[in-house]
Amino acid sequence: MDELPEYIYPARLAGQGRRLRGLMRLANMARLAEWIETRDGSVAVEAAFFDTDEGLHRAHGEVSGTLTVRCQRCMEPMELPVRSGLKLQFVEEASKIEPEDDYEIVRMTRGPTSLLEVIEDELILALPMAPMHPEGRCSATSTTQSSKSPLAEASEPLRGH
Ligand SMILES: [Zn+2]
Repeated sequence: MDELPEYIYPARLAGQGRRLRGLMRLANMARLAEWIETRDGSVAVEAAFFDTDEGLHRAHGEVSGTLTVRCQRCMEPMELPVRSGLKLQFVEEASKIEPEDDYEIVRMTRGPTSLLEVIEDELILALPMAPMHPEGRCSATSTTQSSKSPLAEASEPLRGH
């Protein structure tokens, strides 16, 4: 797969009904770098652009790949497969818009729009709050979690009048 351009003209792509398919490098994603252990490699992006009957510019697709994050139990690096659907709606910079049907709103500037930032946002949203190795595959010694929840322990039957 070829590398995708960092910047695109979404309205033009949608008008032409274009489909983009390619790779985006993690090395260029500065904000994502806080969450991942290595910025080597790429994610695969696929997006079909189209105009709706109402003239809205939209794209449907998917971003997928493998990120290296730190297991929050043993603190060792781990590979985390990520796959996230894309539902994008591109709007003029100043226009008021009511988001609908879980579309992510992407504001178009006068010049080209950064596809890289859109994909970076999607990846950050797709990351779990505390990634961990699967049970049994983690090098941390077994956790001493009781099956009893702290809430259950605290709740004495209330005796009032
Ligand atoms: Zn672990």
